[in-house]
Amino acid sequence: MHKTIFILSILLSSICLQAQDRFAKVEITAEKINDHLYMLQGSGGNIVIQMGDDGVLMIDDQFAPLSAKIQAKIKELTGAEVDYLINTHWHGDHTGGNENFGKAGATIIAHHNVRKRMARGRTKIEAGREIPPAPAVALPVITFGSDMKFHFNGEDLHLFHFHNGHTDGDGIIYFANDNVVHMGDTFFNMRYPFIDLKSGGNVNGLLKTLGEVLFMIDDDTVVVPGHGSLGNKADLMKYRDVILELRDKVVAMKKGGKSLDDVLASGFSKQYDEAWGGGFINPEKFASFLFESPALDTVSED
Ligand SMILES: [Zn+2]
Repeated sequence: MHKTIFILSILLSSICLQAQDRFAKVEITAEKINDHLYMLQGSGGNIVIQMGDDGVLMIDDQFAPLSAKIQAKIKELTGAEVDYLINTHWHGDHTGGNENFGKAGATIIAHHNVRKRMARGRTKIEAGREIPPAPAVALPVITFGSDMKFHFNGEDLHLFHFHNGHTDGDGIIYFANDNVVHMGDTFFNMRYPFIDLKSGGNVNGLLKTLGEVLFMIDDDTVVVPGHGSLGNKADLMKYRDVILELRDKVVAMKKGGKSLDDVLASGFSKQYDEAWGGGFINPEKFASFLFESPALDTVSED
């Protein structure tokens, strides 16, 4: 018995050390978008920092073990702490630092469902692993529904939730004057999308969201993806077109009575797999998102 506990505790501590190690090696890099906007990368979702006379605004915050490094990088760039933090959605690689930044005094803003899902957490049965409810200090204190405007540092930020795409709490953050948009995980640059069906995601809603953004932006817009390098309108359009083509193919097969296995056996995405399927979402996962996304008119959005 004691021996088992001993071995278990060694195992657990080595797992913890590995997790710490993973973050110990991560460096936070800053890529300049313009004089007052930077994209930060480390491990997790892409961060955008806006600075100016009113203070510092941040979009997404990666994982908790990286908060100190991210704060140091922000201090280096701006000489100040974060005043406002916007989350593009509730996933841990975008909100993991909320508790730390919340404690440091940042006011957190996100879609209603980000707060709802973070406050509730998820059971092992729902999520495959348990996601505990977030502490109050980590929760967004200002939440929005379909849209909100936020006036800061001379910028008119538009926060939009168009449809349930990657999750049911996706926020698109558009810097109207600077012509920069942060897409959160509704855009993976040159990778198949992740549709989190268990968080209310839906490929049909994702396509509608991408259509709305494409209508809003122009050829000069800097498009920040949730993961991957900075893109532009042409990149976003290519991404939308690939998803649209493959969605239509899979839906047609499903309507013709084919199973998910039949879809996979057909090599439905073969021509794109080399360029788009090498990341975290392989063709099999992508096919299941396309196959299992409910029709939009059956989905209630709140
Ligand atoms: Zn995500």
